[in-house]
Amino acid sequence: MDDGVERRLGVEIRRNASPILFPFKDYFRGFEKLPVVRGIFGERTDEVISNLEVEFFSSKWGYMSTSEVDGHLIISSYHLKNSDFETVYLDIVHELCHVKQFMDGRELFDARYSYVDSPIEIEAYRTTVEEAKRIGFTEERIKEYLKVDWITEEELFKLISNIGL
Ligand SMILES: [Zn+2]
Repeated sequence: MDDGVERRLGVEIRRNASPILFPFKDYFRGFEKLPVVRGIFGERTDEVISNLEVEFFSSKWGYMSTSEVDGHLIISSYHLKNSDFETVYLDIVHELCHVKQFMDGRELFDARYSYVDSPIEIEAYRTTVEEAKRIGFTEERIKEYLKVDWITEEELFKLISNIGL
């Protein structure tokens, strides 16, 4: 059926585009030594971090995510370049939690929950907030970090309370 439409419109669209993947370690060094990362992956840490891959996209919109297809990281090169160091650092910790959840066969995007109520997100945020405290973030700065532009003020309060901050 699609073929017919393509022919009628006189266009052709190749719909199986593969992302270009880079080794995580080419861009993010030393993460496998962090206690938080060793806490996430345990004795598999070195192996997981060595095999982890990253896809970059250049849009100004969006930050980081984890592929629900094969668990690789997806990162905005704009965010990587322009956000402050600690934000990128904590975002990586957050996404590594999702990588582990993916490895455990868990559903990363569960439509039954909103972002701030998602057990997947709350778990990742708890680990990230602990790491934020360890690197010296005040409660105020943690809340600032959590104030992302895709959630409302009301959702932010919910997220904070769900995390148990
Ligand atoms: Zn997340």
